[in-house]
Amino acid sequence: MYHHFVPVKLHGKANALITDLKALTEAPTACPYCQHHDLYVIHSSSGYYRCKACKRSFNRSLNTPFYRLARLEWLPVIAERRLCGQSYATIRHELTDSTAWLIKRRGQVIEQYMQSHYPDLYQWYQTQQASSETDVPKAVKEQVEQLKSWVNNILQTTQATCPHCESHKTQKVADGRAQFRCKSCWRYFSQLKGTGLEHLAHSENWLKMIDMFVAGKSYQQMEHILTMSPATISKAKRNWLSIVQQQNLLVLKEWLTSR
Ligand SMILES: [Zn+2]
Ligand SMILES: [Zn+2]
Repeated sequence: MYHHFVPVKLHGKANALITDLKALTEAPTACPYCQHHDLYVIHSSSGYYRCKACKRSFNRSLNTPFYRLARLEWLPVIAERRLCGQSYATIRHELTDSTAWLIKRRGQVIEQYMQSHYPDLYQWYQTQQASSETDVPKAVKEQVEQLKSWVNNILQTTQATCPHCESHKTQKVADGRAQFRCKSCWRYFSQLKGTGLEHLAHSENWLKMIDMFVAGKSYQQMEHILTMSPATISKAKRNWLSIVQQQNLLVLKEWLTSR
């Protein structure tokens, strides 16, 4: 997923970084002291091995900045999420039995490693960190526009087919909620049904709300502008996430999840 956020010219560096981190959890091919290939596994999940030739034991992360860090399998996950702009707090939700501190500690070591091995990527990453509130990646902006035009179309539609009798003789009865009445069977229906939007109140705020979620505004900031309670805003965010998923706007979903 980080390919949507990292500029194309840095994809190679980002891939290389992730590959390096994944390699830390794979079995070593040679002893780091004598280069012999016959190795015993002492403890595979923590990466401890012993050389059959020189009898020395070593950790898989020997000679790397990750030496003796537990849970090496977290490193590529943390790096990928950080490249997508996610906060340590968000990453913690995905990695069970971790703490924000453990994640942050590993994140800092990954940053050091990135700085010394992939300076171009590190430079971009630093700039992203500094401007993550205002700089929305192009791939995200495109999906925001798709979502907003879809919402606009539904809200502004004046033509609808009755879902009960399939008559086209229908009349819009409420602005903003896409409510219709059929002139043949006289039943009411909503164009929002089945879109996920029917669960959301305050349609006058929808477009503004999308922009504010994308910009990473806090619920407190939104509360003042939208005059909605933080609980309602939080519920609305969950609804928007499932709508975005349903619309297959996965880059946007990834972005919103990290805000
Ligand atoms: Zn050896
Ligand atoms: Zn009808």
